[in-house]
Amino acid sequence: MVRVRFAPSPTGHLHIGAARTSLFNWLFARHCSGKFILRIEDTDMARSSEKMSKGILEGLKWLGLNWDEGPIFQSERIEIYKKMAEELVRKDHAYYCYCLPEEIQNRKKEAPFGGRDWKYDRFCLKLSEERKRELEKEGRPKAIRFLVPEREIEYRDLIHGSISVETKNIEDFVLLRSDGLPTYHLSVVVDDLDQGITHVIRGDDHISNTPKQILLYKSFESSPPEFAHLALIFGSDKKKLSKRHGVTSVIQFKEDGYFPLAIVNFLSQMSWSPGEEERIYSVEEMVKGFSLDKLSKGSPVFDLAKLEWLNGQLISQMEAEELAPYVTEELRREDLWQEKLDKEMREWFLRLINLLKERSHTIKDFSVRAKPFLTDGLSYDPAGIEKYLKDERLGKLLPKLKEDFLLMEDFTSPHIEQVLRQRAEKEGVKAALFIHALRMLVVGEPVSPGIFEVLELVGKDKTIKRMGKFQNI
Ligand code: GLU
Repeated sequence: MVRVRFAPSPTGHLHIGAARTSLFNWLFARHCSGKFILRIEDTDMARSSEKMSKGILEGLKWLGLNWDEGPIFQSERIEIYKKMAEELVRKDHAYYCYCLPEEIQNRKKEAPFGGRDWKYDRFCLKLSEERKRELEKEGRPKAIRFLVPEREIEYRDLIHGSISVETKNIEDFVLLRSDGLPTYHLSVVVDDLDQGITHVIRGDDHISNTPKQILLYKSFESSPPEFAHLALIFGSDKKKLSKRHGVTSVIQFKEDGYFPLAIVNFLSQMSWSPGEEERIYSVEEMVKGFSLDKLSKGSPVFDLAKLEWLNGQLISQMEAEELAPYVTEELRREDLWQEKLDKEMREWFLRLINLLKERSHTIKDFSVRAKPFLTDGLSYDPAGIEKYLKDERLGKLLPKLKEDFLLMEDFTSPHIEQVLRQRAEKEGVKAALFIHALRMLVVGEPVSPGIFEVLELVGKDKTIKRMGKFQNI
């Protein structure tokens, strides 16, 4: 049975790159009816924190990437790693190293070319038994180093194809530090073995670690799992995506008004899509069509505009009822919420959502765009004023249109349109003159959803009041 894992180090929030690794593991597990395991790699005690672990779990839950086993915390398994490292010493695959960091530094400095390409010189492998006893007596701290055998390692990466590496440039790396904590290589291999991992799907940045880990599997007399290394996401400057490129935290996207389904589509479509079309696919479609060998090898570029577009697509497909709780929360956050929207004005509120959802990219857009409908304090776009409110004819014509509106009993969008067009015709001007001016006066912006519907929802009284401000803007 397929068993995969997502193994974040909790040294930061759940960023977009890690979320993508997790998604592909999850999709693979679900596609194969396998298991998805969550493991928190928190052995770097100084850099890991419980808060970050919680944040990662929260991010995964929000994205809907539920796990079948775990979270397994590596910090609770320290004794196991120690035991396994010692077993390797017993089997002559590893040895104790008593070198102090400064001793290593000095030897490196003295080496040819200032120590460039220097690797650990196996100083402690050559120690006599007597010297070892002395050092033990002295209480010298000791690490455990892996004895790297000289050979060629070949494996087939499920994304990159065949990879072969000579081990002669790999130094005898540390498995267990002198403080008793395991290095990443040891803990990852011990855990992947213990947890029966069949496929390791992770970022390209681990490709250079894989030969070392394959050597470790062999020394534990086990066969390595399959490997699939995902191309890392780049920023627009073709450098590895990082905080420099703006928002990369999954939870921040939640706060910024994005939906998990849009994020999951976005993450997936950077490297693979279940169909040809650019659109929102359901999770079921993704699970059904997923396959590791379809993932592109090249590094995708993070394109926020694409995410916005996908989120906007999703919003436009959602029913007003479905959007209502999110919009409510957003309006509350922005101090625009009124209880009556949930009661006597519920129908009006749902119509407003329907009106605004067409061009909204995020839930945040709703609070910005709902403002003219919920408050009177408009801010007028200066360029829009210049363009649409400076026509001299308006001074004479707007009061006439205002009079027409005043006389209306049924202030609904088809009637408003009829009245406005009649007035334009009578005066020999284009309806657009009124339409643009009204948009500025009632919404404050040169663009809005269909103006007649806007006016209907704003209501007759407020429309007339805002038209009256024309001379003072
Ligand atoms: N903990 C490692 C990381 O955060 C992942 C290890 C792995 O997938 O092998 O990058």
